[in-house]
Amino acid sequence: MPAIKFRGVDFIQYDSLLTDEERLVRDTTRQFIEDNLIPIIEECNRAGRFPRELVKPMGELGFFGASLKGYGCAGMGNVEYGLMTQELERGDSGVRSFVSVQSGLVMYPIYEFGSDEQKQTWLPPMQKGEKLGCFGLTEPDFGSNPGGMRTRARKVGNEYVLNGEKMWITSGSIADVAVIWAKVENENDKIRGFLVETDRPGFKADDIHGKWSLRASVTSGLSLQDVHIPEANLLPKSGGLKSPLMCLNQARYGIAWGALGAAMACYDCALQYSLLRKQWRDQPIASHQLVQDKLTWMISEITKAQLLVLQVGRLKDAGKVQHQHISMAKRNNVWMALECARLSRDILGANGVADDYPIMRHMMNLESVKTYEGTHDVHSLIIGQSVTGIDAF
Ligand SMILES: Cc1cc2nc3c(=O)[nH]c(=O)nc-3n(C[C@H](O)[C@H](O)[C@H](O)COP(=O)(O)OP(=O)(O)OC[C@H]3O[C@@H](n4cnc5c(N)ncnc54)[C@H](O)[C@@H]3O)c2cc1C
Repeated sequence: MPAIKFRGVDFIQYDSLLTDEERLVRDTTRQFIEDNLIPIIEECNRAGRFPRELVKPMGELGFFGASLKGYGCAGMGNVEYGLMTQELERGDSGVRSFVSVQSGLVMYPIYEFGSDEQKQTWLPPMQKGEKLGCFGLTEPDFGSNPGGMRTRARKVGNEYVLNGEKMWITSGSIADVAVIWAKVENENDKIRGFLVETDRPGFKADDIHGKWSLRASVTSGLSLQDVHIPEANLLPKSGGLKSPLMCLNQARYGIAWGALGAAMACYDCALQYSLLRKQWRDQPIASHQLVQDKLTWMISEITKAQLLVLQVGRLKDAGKVQHQHISMAKRNNVWMALECARLSRDILGANGVADDYPIMRHMMNLESVKTYEGTHDVHSLIIGQSVTGIDAF
């Protein structure tokens, strides 16, 4: 069977809805992924290795903090940013996760809640990929309900002292700085964000091994034991659970686009395979009605998902997006992508379970993507609350 090369997915002249600049960002990212990630991703996935060698070139292409303005950032529009994450995740969800964390969960809170000095210190090197970040919200006992967190910060003189455990933290052990969310004891347990340099005494990051998902991404547990940081490391404009949720909104938006990329990779691979693979009377399996039905389901759902994220992106550009819009895009597109991965795997038969093809890797990755940044069901509750006015958490 000849190698299958991604061709893009556009059933309803979707490209005509995009500007020249938006198509340029998408095509540049697609080429970068094709040239640099596709040749190595299956090896990385097998070895459980994050392709760190791509960090510098990704920085040079402006992938980090891409939608922020100033500090060397690309200042992309939200649709451009989304198309970039789509193409990154068409390569691999782990690489897209790395970029989402660096951009939406570390650079964004510094940009949004940080002091001028914090912005000057961290944003330019992070944009270049010279410094890496991680985002510590989840704890061993608090995932969907982060408000229950046990991590505490205590103000002592002109320092804060942090204690606690964070779990499932993307890029934890490769980060230079961790954005840590903690309850401040001297402020009635108000949740605030802190910048913790990872070489401070008392800070430890241990990788989680044995993941069957996001194997090309680093995931760690963080331990903070009497970690002293200067008071200038508090993100001064952070306050309350709303602050980390604002960060999650940024990242969820990118995920909604990213999942679409994974779905497109699976669908296009299955389509090409079905035209090449012959069974019964020397005919391609694409000639069977049941196979066509699966392809039809996928192209229909991908097309609907494209329109959904495009509208959410346009609303975001216009400053009119609401968090429940982003919840719908994340929930729908990740579910749709996982279903596409399963159907595509089925179309490839036994070949679908091998890493000669990207499908099973995407399927396993998408299981994490369904869970993180608000599980599928948590987004159901967010949308449910928005339409009924009733909190069902
Ligand atoms: C690979 C990976 C990377 C991650 N990276 C990060 C990171 O960088 N930083 C970070 O802070 N976190 C990260 N996370 C953690 C992630 O955000 C959490 O896993 C997620 O919030 C879910 O929490 P949990 O796993 O504790 O599941 P739980 O909250 O224990 O949920 C388990 C199940 O219960 C359901 N459930 C929970 N509450 C309700 C309810 N009220 N009603 C109905 N059902 C409910 C959920 O939908 C889910 O199906 C990562 C996770 C993974 C897998």
